[in-house]
Amino acid sequence: MQFDDQADLDTSQVQDRRGMSGGKVALGGGAVGIVGLIIALLLGVDPSTLGVSDGGGGTAGQTSAGQVQDSCKKGSDANQRQDCRMVAVVNSVQNFWQSEFTRRAGAYQPAETVLFTNQVQTACGAASSAVGPFYCPGDRKAYFDLGFFNELSSRFGAKGGPFAEAYVVAHEYGHHIQNLTGQMKKVGQDRQGANSGSVKLELQADCYAGVWAYAATRTPQASTGRPLITSLTDADIAAGLDAAAAVGDDRIQQQAQGRVNPESWTHGSSAQRQQWFTTGYRTGDMARCDTFG
Ligand SMILES: [Zn+2]
Repeated sequence: MQFDDQADLDTSQVQDRRGMSGGKVALGGGAVGIVGLIIALLLGVDPSTLGVSDGGGGTAGQTSAGQVQDSCKKGSDANQRQDCRMVAVVNSVQNFWQSEFTRRAGAYQPAETVLFTNQVQTACGAASSAVGPFYCPGDRKAYFDLGFFNELSSRFGAKGGPFAEAYVVAHEYGHHIQNLTGQMKKVGQDRQGANSGSVKLELQADCYAGVWAYAATRTPQASTGRPLITSLTDADIAAGLDAAAAVGDDRIQQQAQGRVNPESWTHGSSAQRQQWFTTGYRTGDMARCDTFG
């Protein structure tokens, strides 16, 4: 994945709260400081089984809030730094959905990304890094501790890499799209099991991530008239698919418990997650992402 070196990055789309205290809620006794209203986690893992890695979320040398505003100016920065790459991917994803909503005579409402370390306050409650990336419908923000991307490799066995990370970002913005379209509300309490509304919602978010990937190198930025992402290779797409498989419920359950229990699935199997990303990527058509059938 390569970004247009000359492109301006829009850091107003990303709040950098890294190194800031999460505030009022302390990480106590290994408990995860999260309330139940965050409905769109990437992982189908019971947070209590993950434990809390205090400090584990951050990576060395990455501590002061507001860094992306200081450091991420151009596409060339995104080609060199992980945090700037987050800004660029968020810019690309939102630029695509903006143009797609316009094309469909709808109104896209932007969603900010928040970068944090360890824990963060949200409209959905306090959350720790242990839950993985998530989207909070209450404040319409996507939350990432960049330390998760290390875990994606070390804990979940993904190969990782820039496009694996981009897939995760695009998945969370998929939830934002579902929030805007009203699809999210339709899930109600149907939150567990291979045929649950939750699984359908998650697979649709994967499909939307694929739709963005299809469009990423074809959608010009208004400011430059050129796409922000200049190349996505087959190897990039393979890394995204690999990440999608790594966070499949069956893969995670097999690894954590040594068995697979579809009745407690929340996100879908590895094969399903790959299949729906691929559907989006091959067609570039969000209408094909009808996981609710
Ligand atoms: Zn999700």
